[in-house]
Amino acid sequence: MPIDPKAPYDDSNIFAKILRGEIPCRKVYEDEFALAFHDINPQAPVHVLVIPKGRWVSWDDFSARAEDDEIAGFVRAVGAVARAEGLVEPGYRMLANVGQHGHQEVPHLHVHLFGGRQFYAMVS
Ligand code: IMP
Repeated sequence: MPIDPKAPYDDSNIFAKILRGEIPCRKVYEDEFALAFHDINPQAPVHVLVIPKGRWVSWDDFSARAEDDEIAGFVRAVGAVARAEGLVEPGYRMLANVGQHGHQEVPHLHVHLFGGRQFYAMVS
């Protein structure tokens, strides 16, 4: 079920549990601002999720209310993960689903990084 992007942050969401170390993940990167791990249901040869450490439901509240250093740190972390995963050449796709029409299912902001194959012009 897509989430309500206006709902308050729910500390019981699965990515909050991963951040607290309550459930495992296949971690690929961590710094002060972000954690990255393999998606449990990969849609490409490389499919990694990058999440901020702060309590943000979606790109909407993060981009509106996060401090500038947190936004910069997260954006830099997404790029660092792509480089660490060897995705820059020949390239990759990144996306963040927001709310119902974006079909966001987990109510903690996450950026998907897809790589390892050619993608088509449009995301379905
Ligand atoms: P969304 O539709 O953008 O919210 O995508 C949520 C993503 O989280 C999906 O690609 C799921 O496969 C992924 N996911 C859900 N639970 C877990 C987990 O426990 N570990 C890693 N990925 C997960």
